[in-house]
Amino acid sequence: MYIDIHTHQIQPREDVLAIVNLSFEKPHPSENGLYSMGIHPWDISALSPSKTEEQLETIRTESLFAIGEIGLDKIKSSDLSTQLELFKTQIAIANQRKKPIIIHCVKAFNEVLQQKTAIKNPAIIHGFRGKPILMKSLCDAGFFLSFGERFNEKTVEETPLDRLFLETDDSETTIQSIYQRVAEIKHCNLSSLEKSIEENFRRLSAAR
Ligand SMILES: [Zn+2]
Repeated sequence: MYIDIHTHQIQPREDVLAIVNLSFEKPHPSENGLYSMGIHPWDISALSPSKTEEQLETIRTESLFAIGEIGLDKIKSSDLSTQLELFKTQIAIANQRKKPIIIHCVKAFNEVLQQKTAIKNPAIIHGFRGKPILMKSLCDAGFFLSFGERFNEKTVEETPLDRLFLETDDSETTIQSIYQRVAEIKHCNLSSLEKSIEENFRRLSAAR
């Protein structure tokens, strides 16, 4: 079983277990899928206070597998203190609802690491492209890392299998091809990679 831990494709392939990231504008496609929702740091500056409250209410009540993507972005987003405030609010919602979180982080890893003790459920840094040294400190702190179409090969090679997820995010790539590349880089066979990721996924679900 292939697991795509973060995708924006509403209709993933049937043989793939996918966590589909929903936007607030699009309706809930079906009752049977697994979904994540969260206020993305890119969207914060365009939100009025009432819209923010409305979306937080959706996150509090919608039937979701995970809260996300939420996080911090020092390149593409508005002032960091507003981002941090909303990140903390959504971490608190995830704690209350006992949901895993999916984190978007660009150049703000120290700030994300500082929040780790506040996060009570499993947390996945998605689309990770950092170097091995950053991978190590995030794994030591207890984060899972998810790799997509683009990643640092040395980092993937060194990431422990019990900390790793794979994703298609908004790319056209298939999750199968990412599994294949990662299995090659890690010198393991496809089925043991599948098994490790299934086990990690069970750890996400068990925490709920
Ligand atoms: Zn995404």
